[in-house]
Amino acid sequence: MNGKIFIMDNDFERLKEWVDHRRYPSFRAKQILEWLNKGTINPEQMTNIPKNIRDALSEDFVTDSFRVVEEWTSEKDGTKKWLFELHDGHRIETVLMPYSTGLSVCISSQAGCKMGCSFCASAKAGFGRDLTCGELLAQVTLPSALVNERISRVVIMGIGEPFDNFEQLKRFFRMINDESGPNIGARHITVSTCGLIPQMIEFMCIGMQVNLAVSLHASNDLLRRQLMPIAHRYPLNELIDACRQYVEKTGRRITFEYALLAGVNDTDEQARELARLLRGIHCHINLIAANEFPGGAYKKSSKERAVSFMSVLEKNKMTVTLRREMGSDIMAACGQLRRGMQETL
Ligand code: SF4
Repeated sequence: MNGKIFIMDNDFERLKEWVDHRRYPSFRAKQILEWLNKGTINPEQMTNIPKNIRDALSEDFVTDSFRVVEEWTSEKDGTKKWLFELHDGHRIETVLMPYSTGLSVCISSQAGCKMGCSFCASAKAGFGRDLTCGELLAQVTLPSALVNERISRVVIMGIGEPFDNFEQLKRFFRMINDESGPNIGARHITVSTCGLIPQMIEFMCIGMQVNLAVSLHASNDLLRRQLMPIAHRYPLNELIDACRQYVEKTGRRITFEYALLAGVNDTDEQARELARLLRGIHCHINLIAANEFPGGAYKKSSKERAVSFMSVLEKNKMTVTLRREMGSDIMAACGQLRRGMQETL
């Protein structure tokens, strides 16, 4: 990158400094930011900015990133998925899902992932690097520009473990929430973690109203360690304790994600064990159909099994939903597209 930062890593303050440093009129900072918020990162397309300033932007910042490698649209439900190539060749996925309540975008936090969950396509493709806050932000503004519609919800559940890229994530929260930025309310943002406890503790202390989801996927340590190596570092009793602290400190409900894997974690007994584990926590359990991908070891549970698992939880007074599968015809689940493309390259 030759020491240059990505143009979208600039917030209003940084743009003002740059404009002052270059001795341009200060109102140019606001104009440039308005273009960035509209998903325009190529200065050549900033039509109300004079040519000398456009050239200076290209000279000082990375502006040739986020090339659309592929774009898919689901015929079943209109879900869209993009494979973007960043300026240094790393590829990331972003998924846009239309709901009756508005558009929801699922963004990646890293190019690849170090966490190694055995059921996940992203883990199989290895780790590239952390994304910058501007690269997180661009996954909201670019899709919005591409479909010419406002995004109402952001979920950070794509490729990567967001809490493993915590500094950039915190800057992203500030920038997306800012009045001079896309101004999406914290309550409309959800971040998902596989359970990095120190960052969860820090997250609950920063006082933002961003929603927290924890990927659980198992009701006991033995099975969780097989599925998620992070469970060796942070056992369930410590994780659940941190979740209870989060609910107590923030007064907010926590979501537990549970991917149903056929014959692995989907028996009625495991549902009862899960209910015992989470009893007394103000929470919502989100059951997900597991992602099947070429070379993957797991199959998703049958519809009947999923319904039975859910009804055991309901009988135990848990709040639970079976998530609608979005974009299943375009491999819309985390990491599948990037991996599929790597296999065909
Ligand atoms: S499930 Fe999430 S945390 Fe686990 S390997 Fe995949 S992307 Fe990483």
